[in-house]
Amino acid sequence: MEILEKAQRMLINYPLCDYCLGRQFAMLGYGMENDERGRIIKTLLTMRGHQLALQKDEGGVKLLKALASNGSFEMAGEILKKLKRRAKKPSACYLCEDHFKALPRLVEKILETLKEYEYGSLLVGISLPAEVEEREDEFKAEFEVQHSESMRNAFSRVIGKMITEVTKKPVNYANPEVTILVNPFTAEFEIQANPLYIMGRYKKLVRGIPQSKWICMRCRGWGCQRCNWTGKMYPESVEELIAAPVLRATLGEDTAFHSAGREDIDALMLGSGRPFIIEVKKPKKRLIDLQELERLINEEAEGKIEVSNLRFVGKSMVRRLKQLEGAEKIYRVLVEFDREVSDEELKAIEEAFTKTVIRQRTPLRVLHRRADRTREKYIYETKVKRLARNRAEIRIRCQGGLYVKELVTGDNGRTNPNISSLIEVKAVPKELDVLNIMVKGGQDGEV
Ligand SMILES: [Zn+2]
Ligand SMILES: [Zn+2]
Repeated sequence: MEILEKAQRMLINYPLCDYCLGRQFAMLGYGMENDERGRIIKTLLTMRGHQLALQKDEGGVKLLKALASNGSFEMAGEILKKLKRRAKKPSACYLCEDHFKALPRLVEKILETLKEYEYGSLLVGISLPAEVEEREDEFKAEFEVQHSESMRNAFSRVIGKMITEVTKKPVNYANPEVTILVNPFTAEFEIQANPLYIMGRYKKLVRGIPQSKWICMRCRGWGCQRCNWTGKMYPESVEELIAAPVLRATLGEDTAFHSAGREDIDALMLGSGRPFIIEVKKPKKRLIDLQELERLINEEAEGKIEVSNLRFVGKSMVRRLKQLEGAEKIYRVLVEFDREVSDEELKAIEEAFTKTVIRQRTPLRVLHRRADRTREKYIYETKVKRLARNRAEIRIRCQGGLYVKELVTGDNGRTNPNISSLIEVKAVPKELDVLNIMVKGGQDGEV
């Protein structure tokens, strides 16, 4: 059916705003918004109606009446007045209920709220009442519509265009920094700031701080006498020491802490530090000065932890960070033996634990959170330095994931070979530190 014939039939049967009429022919023509398309069609139909009416054809008056009421088209109303005919009052659009016309007011409110956020790109998502979409589907079937733009797409595109014209921030479909969810029918909207990821390295300079916040086991975080009403087992953690200044800078709601493995509470983390990513949920500020943030974190956590090399990364880096858990590490463990040990025995430890594979069943102390299975870890090199008759400092360079405390004690025979059984002595790890994590160039996103 020809465009004008089809449009005329639509308008005689249903009230349609300029946007929704134009939308039915959106793929025809180019570089024009749908309301403009709709007005052009209505103009041509008004001219046709006017011509027929002047020829005393009652069909012309009928068409002008449809244009004036169903089409809310003023020009048709004016002509009817001149012809001394009366038109019915304009009715709201059958498809969008005039919500396209109401967009400028809604967008103004969205823009006002968006001012609270910093972002580089955005995306508009649309939610529509189910009956609205069903109504449109039936309408399309009735008129065999072939070149239309869906209402959802049109709302998203038009709102996006109105917002970007003011903010100059581009629409990004794959990875927007803010998503604006709009329901044009209720004029409600919600702004979702997508997470911000900041990567860096941390060193832990004192013992007794867990990596992440540790909920009190007795009260499960509600607060009790044991935890001094804090809900936590330890007053602070690496995560919290980093998160507090980060939340203040980004005005985020919450954070999640990701890291390439973890050290024990009583272990130091030295060298160039452990790679981590702090994920900020719902940040309002994104354009933060990371050098200044680094300075703030280090100032507030002075003597406890130190962060370095802060930078923004993408979400995919979180997965790559987990792969760094296996990175080569250097440990220093202070070992106390329950008797005097000879130089030969210390020499034997060095030799036995250099270029060797350790078979290790999940340690008893972590069985509650890790599956019970046997892992094989490689030790590249072990160096032993005597400190006293029954004390030594042992440095171990090994594959990531080796449980060093258990390498010393043997963990009831679950780690083999082990230091205790090698020289038949009870060996106890007194202090354990991570001296360095050897991240190869590029592995954590550095060149
Ligand atoms: Zn409409
Ligand atoms: Zn408690």
